[in-house]
Amino acid sequence: MPAVTHPNWLELPRLTAPTAQALDRPIERLVTAPSLLEGAGFPVRRPFPSHEIGFRNADPFLLLDHLGAVEYAPGEAKGAPWHPHRGFETVTYIIDGVMQHRDSQGGGGLITNGATQWMTAGSGILHDELPTEELVRTGGLFHGIQLWVNLPSTLKWTPPRYQSLESHYVTLISSEHGDGLLRIIAGELNGHKGPGVTWTPVTVVHATLNPGAHLQIPWPQLFNTLIYILSGSGTVGSARVLMREGQGAQMGPGNTITITASTECSDTNPTMEVLLLGGQPIGEPIASYGPFVMNTHAEIVQAFSDYQEGRMGNVPAQEYRPDSL
Ligand code: MN
Repeated sequence: MPAVTHPNWLELPRLTAPTAQALDRPIERLVTAPSLLEGAGFPVRRPFPSHEIGFRNADPFLLLDHLGAVEYAPGEAKGAPWHPHRGFETVTYIIDGVMQHRDSQGGGGLITNGATQWMTAGSGILHDELPTEELVRTGGLFHGIQLWVNLPSTLKWTPPRYQSLESHYVTLISSEHGDGLLRIIAGELNGHKGPGVTWTPVTVVHATLNPGAHLQIPWPQLFNTLIYILSGSGTVGSARVLMREGQGAQMGPGNTITITASTECSDTNPTMEVLLLGGQPIGEPIASYGPFVMNTHAEIVQAFSDYQEGRMGNVPAQEYRPDSL
């Protein structure tokens, strides 16, 4: 698992032990993420939005897609060719493998092992998200997530921007006993700041837990909180509910999150990999259709006409390919 790590977790700053006032969050909603095809037909697991965890439960997050882990055969890797976004942010975190990305403002690059691209679509942008030609040709391991973070109405028209959060920028801390690694990608955790800058208070953490590791993670009380198991298994929350790969949860109120990794593990799943998402709810109405997330239906209608008339940008001329339209 090439997501960024450290050779000796004991040398890292540690999470502080919870205080006597610690109130452990329970699981409020649990979902086994359904599988579906996205983009040009690549398989994803989507814990939310779902029947169990809707927009209101996920606020300020809109969507989480778990991409892989998949071992692509040659010719099999697919992506999401040119499409627009408006009104929110797309966050692409690649754990294994590489994704190539281009946009209508001439930006682009590679998102590789452990790196995150935090894109504020804001007023509107077109982009394409594809495996590299090499990955298509040779096949290989691919594993990542795409998270959509909502913007409040006052920020939906902000100009598009990128943050390329290379893996070496990620803030690494260890659990209290050194048996878990926490990668802070954005926001703040226990006084440690990650590289990603957010418009509203949001924290994104990827944790790796050794078998049997027990973590009680201090977590802001005001955050709505979602947990997703990327691989392995363990118990989560005050009632110690068993969660496995592909399951997600919305947590109830409290100021800590307790996770205990299973002691059973395998060569393919030597650790428990957990995504922790926290954010201050935005609490506004959501009108969403495909790649646009606004506050009202009229704004969605406007987004379609703005897109069709090229007001969100155009596909760069050299990028026109028979398969991209
Ligand atoms: Mn996209």
